[in-house]
Amino acid sequence: MKNVAVIGAGITGITLANLLQKKVNLTVFEKSRGVGGRMATRRAEPYQFNHGAQYFKIENKEFKNFLQPLIQNKIIKHLEANHIDILNKEVIKRTKTYNKIYYTPVSKMNSVVKYLINNNFFIKLLCKIDKTIKENDKWFIIDSDNASYGPYDWLFITIPPNQALEILYNNFKFLDIIKKIKMRSCYSLMLGFDKIKEFDFDTALFLDEDVQWLSIRKKIIENKKIL
Ligand SMILES: Cc1cc2nc3c(=O)[nH]c(=O)nc-3n(C[C@H](O)[C@H](O)[C@H](O)COP(=O)(O)OP(=O)(O)OC[C@H]3O[C@@H](n4cnc5c(N)ncnc54)[C@H](O)[C@@H]3O)c2cc1C
Repeated sequence: MKNVAVIGAGITGITLANLLQKKVNLTVFEKSRGVGGRMATRRAEPYQFNHGAQYFKIENKEFKNFLQPLIQNKIIKHLEANHIDILNKEVIKRTKTYNKIYYTPVSKMNSVVKYLINNNFFIKLLCKIDKTIKENDKWFIIDSDNASYGPYDWLFITIPPNQALEILYNNFKFLDIIKKIKMRSCYSLMLGFDKIKEFDFDTALFLDEDVQWLSIRKKIIENKKIL
């Protein structure tokens, strides 16, 4: 069996691991203490925030088939939201999003990634890969504590391109292509309130402000209203 390493336990890395698991010996390396990557959920008691991806589209049959178990097991559901567009501080459009192609998690966004994990592959958490080496057609990877792993027949790097550049060896032949990929930065502000007035919308798109997207999430947990 081939020895395979996957760097990154976001949706890409875990999907890949899921697809390859029965055909190879596989280890996933993840720098954080949990899986999910940008399909992120953060707890700050008593609040819980999905502060990365909020919803996603299922636009083809293959993707829908892949996610069918998550729909059946109520990990994801159709997105149902009252949405507003705001321009010049005025609401210019109201829509109700209830569209069969939009899905959102029932609770935590990272539960989507967690659901795809099973016992056939090992995930090494809190392990930041700092360096990759290729020798005699085999890959070795080095973490931030200088521990070395390998040899691997295949290495999959599923981290954002600018971070991949930091760990790829100097003469990797696709460096120039990766360097051309530009990512824009994005910040999420998470606010939790004990009391807040009722809003008549769930999501808002600001067409002319630095804050572009606002999502209000209400949940009753042990008689507390979580927003
Ligand atoms: C605020 C925000 C909102 C978004 N909203 C939406 C949305 O509504 N709908 C939608 O479809 N998409 C949305 N996206 C995009 C979506 O979240 C991403 O495209 C997707 O989650 C990327 O998954 P990935 O597995 O490719 O990468 P990531 O999720 O980035 O996973 C990479 C993983 O690699 C780990 N890692 C990085 N470097 C190392 C290293 N050196 N060693 C070990 N591990 C490492 C990271 O910790 C991370 O877990 C949003 C993104 C953000 C940030």
